[in-house]
Amino acid sequence: MAKKFIILGAAESGVGAAILAKRQGYDVFVSDAGVIKEPYKEELEEFGIRYEEGRHSEDKILAADEIMKSPGIPEKNEMVKKIRAAGIPVISEIELAFRFKGDSRIIAITGSNGKSTTTALTFHICKTAGLDCALVGNIGISFAKQVALDPKEVYVAEISSFQLDDIDKFRPDVAVLLNITEDHLDRYEYKFENYIRSKFRIAMNQGPEDFFIYCADDPVTMKYLKQYHFLSNPLPFSMNQEPSRGAFIKNHEMHVKTGDEPLVMSVDDFAIKGKHNQYNTMAAGVAASTMGIRKDKIREAVTTFQSLEHRMEFVANIRGVEFINDSKATNVNSTWYALESMTKPTVLILGGVDKGNDYSLLFEGVKEKVKAIVCMGIDNTKIHEALGDKVPVMVDTASAEEAVQQAFRLAVKGDVVLLSPACASFDLFRNYEDRGQQFKDAVKNL
Ligand code: ADP
Repeated sequence: MAKKFIILGAAESGVGAAILAKRQGYDVFVSDAGVIKEPYKEELEEFGIRYEEGRHSEDKILAADEIMKSPGIPEKNEMVKKIRAAGIPVISEIELAFRFKGDSRIIAITGSNGKSTTTALTFHICKTAGLDCALVGNIGISFAKQVALDPKEVYVAEISSFQLDDIDKFRPDVAVLLNITEDHLDRYEYKFENYIRSKFRIAMNQGPEDFFIYCADDPVTMKYLKQYHFLSNPLPFSMNQEPSRGAFIKNHEMHVKTGDEPLVMSVDDFAIKGKHNQYNTMAAGVAASTMGIRKDKIREAVTTFQSLEHRMEFVANIRGVEFINDSKATNVNSTWYALESMTKPTVLILGGVDKGNDYSLLFEGVKEKVKAIVCMGIDNTKIHEALGDKVPVMVDTASAEEAVQQAFRLAVKGDVVLLSPACASFDLFRNYEDRGQQFKDAVKNL
């Protein structure tokens, strides 16, 4: 009898998994407690997959042999609690994709910040080198859908901690852990340790033939790494040390070494700027190097990569005021890096849905570089409490348009207006893309 496979949640991950599971002969049923959006509904219809929306039919779900839970559904969800109590195996979409990927290789990239950038850059290097590869995961098409519809020899995957929570055998050939800072604590019982443990799962099934790439300058990674006994080859990257294998930057030069011949190139030639992007470039360079990609191809790709939208994206210079869209900064650490790279007086647009943020990390950067904070959100109390006495001016706004107008009013020629909110966007916007787009539209309307 075919395996009764139930999928909770019908968005990119859930529908991708449904298509793959169906193709593999599973008896698939998809259940979504909300309204299923397009194009997902159409895809379910197209592939003849049974589904329900607006509810979870308990009898059906609890009769499953195995369940795939979409990454957006938290453990505290009532249906999930019942599934756990019934002891039914639960997997994530990447676990299913791994099960059916055959001999293909996986480069899996996780971290609190820089995942999308590093994944896109690593993919760009693989593409430049002519590998048969796909970019999968949070950044675009789901891993499972890619495996089902257009299998490749190499998958470059952006992996979130939620995807790692429910893996069992998932084993990437190359695992990259960029950094660990507080994020998503609402999903981890407000315990940082739980979130950290989830991130390290990326390497837990690796063997001696695999590679584990991590940042030797990241205090949390280094503290917890000692507790794990991974079997894979460690390849650290750093700006403070010179590991014999891995990567480092010294005197403005990046050195990448995984085999005999190191790649040495100037950081001035990197297409993406800022200290955080130097870390991301080292990680991508090492990952590509483990795939046997030639030095000249890595060099070429690192120089030609086009940075992603909504990440420190230059928008316009209006009467001498520069506008930068960093809407993707949904936590405090990414805003810290944004401020770190500021060289001009800055009007900072901050705020949104707080995820248990600790703003003290920003004290120094704000004091040093920020001349005014424009709060953009429904509830700005926490920002006022934490940063109110650190800047000369703080104003409240409740839309992108208002925020841009206020910021422009507060800026003078030679200043930067930086949208780097350190918060999620769901109070005023559909998502961070919508927030970034509305910001850019408002700037264009000035
Ligand atoms: P993710 O996919 O992990 O959210 P992104 O590449 O989309 O990462 O970048 C998210 C935000 O974090 C952006 O504001 C970006 O400027 C910033 N950022 C990128 N790389 C890093 C890094 N290595 N460390 C800290 N912040 C980073």
